[in-house]
Amino acid sequence: MVPTLEITPLCNSCDNCRLICPENAIIKVKDHYAIESWACTLCNICVEICPKNCIKLKKNLDDDDDS
Ligand code: SF4
Ligand code: SF4
Repeated sequence: MVPTLEITPLCNSCDNCRLICPENAIIKVKDHYAIESWACTLCNICVEICPKNCIKLKKNLDDDDDS
């Protein structure tokens, strides 16, 4: 499964990530930020610039053991 990033609730809405993303993949929806994974190239720039260290690789939701 292709990894994707998510923004955790620690985000303080500083706007740094949205402004710096070269793909414009980070959007602000009301007071929350979201990453449009289809546009994200996983360049990691936002992860490195985030002052709250709150942009993380999303856990694989398909990890459940369904045996
Ligand atoms: S990893 Fe790169 S492309 Fe993806 S949201 Fe962050 S800055 Fe944008
Ligand atoms: S850089 Fe981090 S704290 Fe700032 S808006 Fe983006 S996710 Fe939130």
